[in-house]
Amino acid sequence: MITRGKAMSLLTLQGVSKAFGDITAVDDVSFEIRKGETLGLVGESGCGKSTLGRMLIRLLEPTAGSIELEGIDIAHLEGAALKAMRQNMQIIFQDPFSSLDPRSPVGNSIGEGLKIHGMNDADERHQRVLEMLDLVGLESYHARRFPHEFSGGQRQRIGIARALILKPSFVVADEPVSALDVSVQAQVLNLLKELQNELGLTLLFIAHNLAVVEHISDRVAVMYLGDIVEVTEREMLYSNPTHPYTEALLSAIPIPDPTRKRSRTILKGDVPSPLDPPTGCRFHPRCPIAVEGICDTEKPLLAPVGDGAVHRAACHLRAGAYRHLDPTLRSA
Ligand code: SF4
Repeated sequence: MITRGKAMSLLTLQGVSKAFGDITAVDDVSFEIRKGETLGLVGESGCGKSTLGRMLIRLLEPTAGSIELEGIDIAHLEGAALKAMRQNMQIIFQDPFSSLDPRSPVGNSIGEGLKIHGMNDADERHQRVLEMLDLVGLESYHARRFPHEFSGGQRQRIGIARALILKPSFVVADEPVSALDVSVQAQVLNLLKELQNELGLTLLFIAHNLAVVEHISDRVAVMYLGDIVEVTEREMLYSNPTHPYTEALLSAIPIPDPTRKRSRTILKGDVPSPLDPPTGCRFHPRCPIAVEGICDTEKPLLAPVGDGAVHRAACHLRAGAYRHLDPTLRSA
């Protein structure tokens, strides 16, 4: 379900940061997730996207900033207030096997959340578990089986059933198909999409691969070394990428048609250490169009690309005050 224009936001982040000792994993991030949409969050391993996802459902507490879910700041909730909010926000993990109890039938694992949140009637819980198994395309007899008796795709269906049984309004799917065979990935993506439409879910879908995110997202945010560097509608991002990092990620996606060619942007070097991030724009040591004296000294903020606020990027040359210095514009 796509909500555009003045769509209501379900979740709003303002200046959210997370530090682990000297490492700033997420640095002053602000954006919103609209009610009923899927926001794809993409970036290389270690860029902070999973840390950000975990903060949004309060598995981690932010070091700074506010996170409002349906108008309530959940960033620093504790005790009973946090427990009550947890019903509303759930997570689907990359590897459901490690999050399932190997000695417990999966029906128990799926229904565990109901028990924690006060549904004491075992028959009622069992009925809800069967409904969830049906919803995710599994059979009722699967409730009695153990995690090792399932394939990777089936285990991910169990993870989805467990996340959705409490009827949350917001779900973080953290690399939910990365560990699956390509043939099974499409099935799980389609299932997530169907459930999102059917249940009106709001999803944050985390992946390291822009090709995976394209099929499920309404909008996409690109993350690099703890910062959001570009965010916009899906069609806009794939047809008109603005940040040089997004361009590089997109250029790495293979095109199935051998007659079509896409110029490949090869990035220099590795992702820098978050222990000692570069000054100015964190992407500048790898950026093919970086300008000395600007990019290495001034940190770019997310700014509108063109008119309106639909498309924003954090780049001095593409969305900031130094657009006239963009070499790709000058050569156009
Ligand atoms: Fe490249 Fe400079 Fe833009 Fe950063 S601000 S992405 S270094 S051009």
